[in-house]
Amino acid sequence: MNIKIADLEFEPLISGEAIQARTKEIAAQLNEEYADKAPIFVGVLNGCFMFMADLVKRINVPCEVAFTKLSSYHGGVTTTRRISDDFDLLVDIANRHVILVEDIVDTGHTLDYLVAKLSHRKPASITVCALLLKPDAIEYSIKELKHIAFRIPNEFVVGYGLDYMELGRNLDGIYKRVV
Ligand code: 5GP
Repeated sequence: MNIKIADLEFEPLISGEAIQARTKEIAAQLNEEYADKAPIFVGVLNGCFMFMADLVKRINVPCEVAFTKLSSYHGGVTTTRRISDDFDLLVDIANRHVILVEDIVDTGHTLDYLVAKLSHRKPASITVCALLLKPDAIEYSIKELKHIAFRIPNEFVVGYGLDYMELGRNLDGIYKRVV
């Protein structure tokens, strides 16, 4: 069923059930890969909050959870190159295995910036786990981007943590803009 958020119309793209099934698969891979590594999951707010919660619920190896906040979109439907560092990561990640949890990678500009920034703190490793990737939009080669739940068309999406004008984050699935 199509929905309206503020002035835009959206149609279903990925169901809540499909997200849960895929999250389960990714968690199973991480449980194997990080069995003896006591990883720190670092969520990139605000968009990651649902994915982060559903993912870490399925992690059964010892792990820590922390957050940082960046913004680059500022409410519209097209990405900007301006990144604001709203809330720095407060835990010490030196010699630790970091799993960065992102909602969506569009051009990759934000993720490239964040990986470079965290690398300066000398973690043992950084792996990125992203809910969504727009393969037709990405402009950076980010070797740390290893786990991608869904590849989607280069269109504006909301739901499951992602917003339009701060609305729609509460939706159970992902919806794409009807153009
Ligand atoms: P990038 O720097 O990769 O171009 O953009 C990344 C950020 O832009 C994401 O973390 C997210 O905040 C925002 N973004 C990119 N595409 C979308 C989209 O389709 N929907 C929403 N709601 N945000 C997006």
